[in-house]
Amino acid sequence: GSNPLRTYKIASIPADGIGPEVIAAGLQALEALARRDGGFELDVTEFDWSSERYRKTGALMPEDGRDQIKDFDAIFFGAVGAPDIPDHVTLWGLRLPLCQGFDQYANVRPTKILPGITSPLAGVGPGDLDWVIVRENSEGEYSGIGGRAHRGLPEEVATEVSIFTRVGVERIMRYAFKPAQSRPRKLLTVVTKSNAQRHGMVMWDEIAAEVGKDFPDVTWDKMLVDAMTVRMVKSPRSLDTIVATNLHADILSDLAGALAGSLGVAPTGNIDPERRYPSMFEPIHGSAFDITGKGIANPVATFWTASQMLEHLGEADAARRLMRAVEKVCADGILTPDVGGDATTRQVTDAVCEAIRGEN
Ligand code: ATP
Ligand code: MG
Repeated sequence: GSNPLRTYKIASIPADGIGPEVIAAGLQALEALARRDGGFELDVTEFDWSSERYRKTGALMPEDGRDQIKDFDAIFFGAVGAPDIPDHVTLWGLRLPLCQGFDQYANVRPTKILPGITSPLAGVGPGDLDWVIVRENSEGEYSGIGGRAHRGLPEEVATEVSIFTRVGVERIMRYAFKPAQSRPRKLLTVVTKSNAQRHGMVMWDEIAAEVGKDFPDVTWDKMLVDAMTVRMVKSPRSLDTIVATNLHADILSDLAGALAGSLGVAPTGNIDPERRYPSMFEPIHGSAFDITGKGIANPVATFWTASQMLEHLGEADAARRLMRAVEKVCADGILTPDVGGDATTRQVTDAVCEAIRGEN
């Protein structure tokens, strides 16, 4: 064939703790996938934006950082956070400026039990829990609007204002119906708290009904967030795609990650569905300084997020190939200590690369 090799520009930001270890593993797997079947090539540029940079210069990233990476095809992000720097400094110093500046309004978290990994739910194994959680990532409860009056006095009042806009809710709803439609079961659960919260949450329900009309083949239902936690634990098979607000999905996806076995396997994509800007892919776990440098960080979350990134770039075959390799290695019991094995990051990574190369 005369098709030119497709080249994607990737900004890698390994950052803190085990971030550099898992990003290196992820890049190794991506390299094993590149140039197969005349496929694609990655042009990776590493950025040293991190807590270390903050200690040296007073800023985690340069002021024009977003400009430096705005024309990349995707961002491959490790983890940010350090014991000696307050969480809000690292969060607002690096992750949030990228998420917000690039309007990555959809946070997508696939969750399933991988073979060889044990769920804390008795009798629940691979195939019984296979969800995609879509989190609204730009507004809602985390608007930052509010304040405190009469600070420290008995009559002190604090407000924490949730902002929901029609544009914001409609775009996330539309984005959630799409994966629901493309997955075999065509099932979407819309989570709110519209019995107790009569404004924004009722608007969510209304907009779900409106957008649902454009996806007649998707079966969707509504759940209150409290009842949803029970359903996730008691009948995981009844769920498939889930959409919820910023706060609700934050909580539900932690629960989902725990039910799927470990933080070390959970991936996420912060996505700008309109593709005006690069989307950002990262493992859900943090910098985990307790195991940094020991060579035992679980790279599976990062492989999975690399697979999400490939899918976003349009390389669906490579994305699936990577996940098949990961599932094979997990099934073979080549696991890091956090999921009950005794393999190192390097052993898992080498096994995944070998599985990729061994597949015809
Ligand atoms: P942050 O403050 O950035 O959230 P953290 O140090 O609190 O980071 P988390 O990532 O939130 O760490 O994870 C909590 C614990 O789970 C870690 O201390 C670590 O022991 C374990 N853990 C997290 N990710 C992994 C991983 N990829 N492999 C193995 N263990 C992990
Ligand atoms: Mg943490």
